[in-house]
Amino acid sequence: MRQSELFTKTLRESPKEEVSINAKLLSRGGYIDRLMAGVYSYLPLGLLVLKNIENIIRDEMQKVGGQEVLLPTLTPKENWMKTDRWKYPEMFKLRNRAEKEYSLGWTHEEIITPLVQKFVNSYKDLPVYVYQFQNKFRDELRAKSGMLRGVEFMMKDLYSFHRDEKDLDSFYLRMQRAYFNVFERCGLKKETFLTLASGGAFAKYSHEFQMVTSFGEDEIYLCKKCKIAVNKEIIEEEKHSCPQCKSKDLEVKKSIEVGNIFKLQNRFTKPFGFKVKDEKGDEKELVMGCYGIGLSRLMGAVVEVHNDENGIIWPAEVAPFRFHLIPVGDVSKEADAIYQDLQKAGIKVLYDDRDRSAGEKFADSDLMGIPNRLVVSAKTLEKKSVELKERESGKISLVKLAEVKKI
Ligand code: ATP
Ligand code: MG
Repeated sequence: MRQSELFTKTLRESPKEEVSINAKLLSRGGYIDRLMAGVYSYLPLGLLVLKNIENIIRDEMQKVGGQEVLLPTLTPKENWMKTDRWKYPEMFKLRNRAEKEYSLGWTHEEIITPLVQKFVNSYKDLPVYVYQFQNKFRDELRAKSGMLRGVEFMMKDLYSFHRDEKDLDSFYLRMQRAYFNVFERCGLKKETFLTLASGGAFAKYSHEFQMVTSFGEDEIYLCKKCKIAVNKEIIEEEKHSCPQCKSKDLEVKKSIEVGNIFKLQNRFTKPFGFKVKDEKGDEKELVMGCYGIGLSRLMGAVVEVHNDENGIIWPAEVAPFRFHLIPVGDVSKEADAIYQDLQKAGIKVLYDDRDRSAGEKFADSDLMGIPNRLVVSAKTLEKKSVELKERESGKISLVKLAEVKKI
């Protein structure tokens, strides 16, 4: 993409309402725009990042056998009455002109359960794993952390349906691994810890994936040895010790939940009367699991972790572009040729073809955080080369023109 064609621009100052690092840097870098507290537009660069995260998650969900759907955002009151969740305080409610009541989806158990029920009537149809990417709406009280806590935000939610608990248990473990793959590919492996949380009335534990950050709103108790954590809800219950090794040497860390997996058992299949016939012809209630990841929260979390005083440092797989090509001085002909070449090779490159000073271009480049900067100048061309600077390490090297595509 040619940077001169972007309708957005970087900002010198972050919007005065923003206090979180992620929202400040994403706004300044031209990734997002704040409409009101907790509600953002994704600008062209931001949408590229969001789509990269979506593709990573889709890839991992397909590997475990998930089938993608897209459920409605507008949902009828009746479904929430069935499960006694119409009273949920964070739910946005609305009425049509005939006074019929609806809510905006904040989660989708009440929609997916009766949907799957229409098609599944025998144990032979099971298991089923269905997921979607969708905007969720929650009337959050404190929407001050930018992308970390949206009022409208993007979520991946997967729901699994099983004939029995054994089958649910084994799928649950596969999802745990899939989630770690997602966080690793998003560059959050080091900071993200499996965290035991309350399982509600139906299971001993659920699991959160908590990312350690000073901006976090949660607190976890992390076992230095096992690298698993316990959340605030159940630390008393666990007698302030690690559930795995029983060590009492736990570190308290501020964190944010980037993902959550939960065994729902029959919490939703029961109110919908969702049963199937087993081998003997007996009717049996299904069990369910649910598995969420906030994509927009993840995008903010990546920025919270990967930044320096100059701006964002995107991990390779989520970066909007792999290369930022920057001509310095009167070398546009040569830079154009390199750009065409990279484009033809299918390499994602942002080409700063704007008429700006080198200093301005470099500052923008650091702020935007594209992993590799390629500078073309008369000096580098003398050596038939471009200068490569890695955003993360700051490492600089000269790369021969013929070798650029191979980096
Ligand atoms: P929290 O305790 O942070 O409010 P939650 O328990 O309400 O999270 P879930 O209902 O389990 O979250 O939602 C699944 C995932 O959706 C979370 O792990 C998180 O990644 C994301 N998420 C939840 N609320 C928000 C929000 N307001 N903005 C952005 N992402 C969110
Ligand atoms: Mg919540």
